Amino acid sequence: MRIVAVCLAALAGLAWLVPAAAQNRAALEASFQAWLESDIWPAARAAGVSRRTFDTQLAGIRLNFDLPELQLGGPGSGPVIDQPEFRSPAPYFNEDNLAALAREGRRRLAAWGETLAAVERRYGVPAEIVLAIWGRETSYGEVALRYDAVRSLATHAFIGRRPDFFRPELVAALKVLERGDVSREAMRSSWAGAIGQPQLLPAAYLQYGVDFDGDGRRDIWNSVPDTLATIANLLRDKGWHASREWGSEATLPSPATCALEGPQQGRPFDAWHRLGVTWTGEGPASDPRETRFLLAPAGVFGPVFLVTENFYAIKGYNNSDLYALFVGNLADRIAGDGGPFAGAWRRVEPIVHANIVTMQNGLIARGYDVGTPTGIVGYRTRTAIGSFQLSAGLPATCYPSAALASALN
Ligand code: CA
Repeated sequence: MRIVAVCLAALAGLAWLVPAAAQNRAALEASFQAWLESDIWPAARAAGVSRRTFDTQLAGIRLNFDLPELQLGGPGSGPVIDQPEFRSPAPYFNEDNLAALAREGRRRLAAWGETLAAVERRYGVPAEIVLAIWGRETSYGEVALRYDAVRSLATHAFIGRRPDFFRPELVAALKVLERGDVSREAMRSSWAGAIGQPQLLPAAYLQYGVDFDGDGRRDIWNSVPDTLATIANLLRDKGWHASREWGSEATLPSPATCALEGPQQGRPFDAWHRLGVTWTGEGPASDPRETRFLLAPAGVFGPVFLVTENFYAIKGYNNSDLYALFVGNLADRIAGDGGPFAGAWRRVEPIVHANIVTMQNGLIARGYDVGTPTGIVGYRTRTAIGSFQLSAGLPATCYPSAALASALN
């Protein structure tokens, strides 16, 4: 009897161990259905979604366990992915990729020139910038959107790393379906729930989507005019100034330092000039009083730039310096006056995110503003590093390193 009992226990143990993941998934599916009713329905109703839309559009919906960045232990069970190392920006600006996107962008400029001119007349955003964003987001609509937007957003809102971010986006997606611009089947997205050729989240689509071809639907999945006008509409709202550049590559000789970077340290053109900063591609018509901002994405270990407010309008599309710089450079190439940066991205040591957080906390403890210490290195962290280095009598590099992390620990 004892042997049998042990065997049964062993079998029971195995039976429990082997399908634990499956059991967990079944339990998650059940609580997902309850959560849709208890949490999402009241929010959707308050947002104007009808019960009929809610029931028909969510009928049979299941979690998508194949998505990245899920907490498969259930809501609140913690991140399951390791943060990658922080590395040089160089791979982001892969020359073959940029050159191919520029060639295709020029073809699209020829094919859609009249539409792009009409978009520029209405929104004040030039063709090459709109094209560069379209190219960067979905290779001009060529990238297949492999995910059901509602299912992806619902999964991220329930067991994703950032449920508070995705929950209102799920409700916004239901509002989109309520309006009838697109069917549930046609509402395709990236794995992260960004919809259509411009890759907007549903709330941004509700705010900025444009029916530019006049067929009565804001179709950013199939209509190129709707896609182009939607991109331009968002950029105008984020502060794009018509007839102004995004910026240009610069040099940074002493006494100017990388610690002068960022949108809070703008100076007129002529003030940068007095500091010895030079830049490329500026005609004599540039207003010497126009404000420019220093951008140094890799500190002193890469090319530096003087940018305008328009650079920050591009960041309104995707809040990343590298993204905005990629779009600006691609736009220059599409317009026919751009190519690789003159400055090289120099080799830098990769550094793990935990060390960056340590460094950021060390800077905060010394009174520097790095924003939230997330392990992501933006201009605040770079300028704080540079200011700390200068105050310590060190050369300013404005770039993280393991040595700096231990000095600041
Ligand atoms: Ca349309």
